[in-house]
Amino acid sequence: MSDTIFGKIASGEVSADIVYEDDDLVAFRDLHPQAPTHILVIPRKPIPTLNAVQPEDAELIGKLFLAAAKIAEQEGIAASGYRTLINCNAGAGQTVYHLHLHILGGRPMQWPPG
Ligand code: 5GP
Repeated sequence: MSDTIFGKIASGEVSADIVYEDDDLVAFRDLHPQAPTHILVIPRKPIPTLNAVQPEDAELIGKLFLAAAKIAEQEGIAASGYRTLINCNAGAGQTVYHLHLHILGGRPMQWPPG
């Protein structure tokens, strides 16, 4: 599979405003933020979509959400409220085929999303 821009951010080949990283995950600010706080959390493992997640990835996916909650706390949006979301495939608006969890906060969120 060819590397995506997020794979290149994870490897350090492309720079990003990284707010958190560990052996399994990297989190960085979205280049085109849709809210005052807009961060993407990715696994270093290049999983293309949520559909491609396997049972052996269960711990990794758990870590992804635990990191998101920790980052929301660090960013000061945990108490006021924030949204996490994963776009899966083109119909949902996925543009980068490396699994990523959006964290959006710092403004009121609407429902349903567009
Ligand atoms: P998707 O639409 O796939 O769910 O989300 C992809 C997100 O990645 C978009 O919000 C877009 O602004 C962001 N993005 C695309 N390319 C880059 C990049 O090179 N650097 C960063 N930091 N964000 C990017």
